[in-house]
Amino acid sequence: MKKYKVGVIGATGIVGQRFVTLLNKHPWFELALLAASPRSAGKTYQEAAASRWAMSEPMPESAKDMIIMDALAAKEKIAGSVDFVFCAVDMPKDEIRALEESYAKLECPVISNNSAHRFTPDVPMIIPEINPEHAEIIPFFRKRIGSKRGFVAVKSNCSLQSYVPAIHPLMGYGVNRVLTCTYQAISGAGKTFERWPEMIDNVIPYIGGEEEKSEKEPLKIWGKIENGQIVPADSPAFTAQCLRVPVSDGHMAAVFVEFENKPAIEEIKERWASYRGRPQELGLPSTPKQFLHYFEEDDYPQTKLHRDLEGGMAISIGRLREDTQYDIKFVCLSHNTLRGAAGGGVLLAELLCAEGYMD
Ligand code: NAP
Repeated sequence: MKKYKVGVIGATGIVGQRFVTLLNKHPWFELALLAASPRSAGKTYQEAAASRWAMSEPMPESAKDMIIMDALAAKEKIAGSVDFVFCAVDMPKDEIRALEESYAKLECPVISNNSAHRFTPDVPMIIPEINPEHAEIIPFFRKRIGSKRGFVAVKSNCSLQSYVPAIHPLMGYGVNRVLTCTYQAISGAGKTFERWPEMIDNVIPYIGGEEEKSEKEPLKIWGKIENGQIVPADSPAFTAQCLRVPVSDGHMAAVFVEFENKPAIEEIKERWASYRGRPQELGLPSTPKQFLHYFEEDDYPQTKLHRDLEGGMAISIGRLREDTQYDIKFVCLSHNTLRGAAGGGVLLAELLCAEGYMD
């Protein structure tokens, strides 16, 4: 496999730092370039990011002296120097849409962690184990913007990266309704406890825009390609409440599901244990061997114990039982900046490389 040269746009942020850490010694990808805002441009990565480094592992030596480029002003140079870019920036949505599309027009594919393009009908929003076939929309996007190679592919929101994978293997039973309450880590807001002391010993019952994303995005993931667009599924009906809780990393969800044909508890566990997706078939470098882990212990999964399972790329599930109002309920957990952000982005890029979209 050839080594792909990659850039990270938004490299100084929390998700960008994760990308830099994950790309250090990646078997297929070589970190060739870092970009951020004009505030950081011209500084070394160490100068710009060391004081806000939020990873438990140290900043990779190979990145420390890289000079950060201005993502907007230097886009031609950046797009011409790499095979593709990862993008995770904090900017107004219309500016992000324009930035990502301009890279695609410069023939540089963009793997995005931002929400700006999630509902563009010809941009795929992919969880590699669930809807890898949505990559087939890419030729339609290329045709629309007039590119040969450039495209934008996005990751879905971090809140749903535990419950959509858990529900997916059960879709054959006819999932009618889902209710979910999420308990989300502060790194999901790009914060640490040092930078957000109000979160110590506290719960904040509001995360702007998160409940809408948690209810709407699963339907695009389960949608179908029709006439060059991804048409969202019209069911199941979702309702969500999203709370910010005082943990550093790891989003947990309490989930209630109603079915058309209710499966037995043991059947559900069997579906989870045997579920394999395209990344497992292809043996991609960042793929978890076992995507869905079910724990029988009454008090599992726990954020601190299980968020790093299989490099933070596996989903942990527990407490499956019958419910009095819905058919079943359970709890699930995923690492928000690994599976839910940069790790999921790297896995998506691996999938698109393996399937020839980066050639
Ligand atoms: P963050 O820590 O606030 O970092 C923001 C990054 O955006 C920084 O690198 C910043 O560069 C850059 N940036 C800001 N304005 C820019 C501009 N005008 N041009 C170029 N770069 C600019 O944010 P984050 O938590 O990493 O989140 C980044 C994106 O990922 C957001 O869209 C977020 O919704 C999404 N996301 C986050 C998570 C998570 O768990 N944190 C999960 C999924 C998705 P400077 O340092 O130079 O200002």
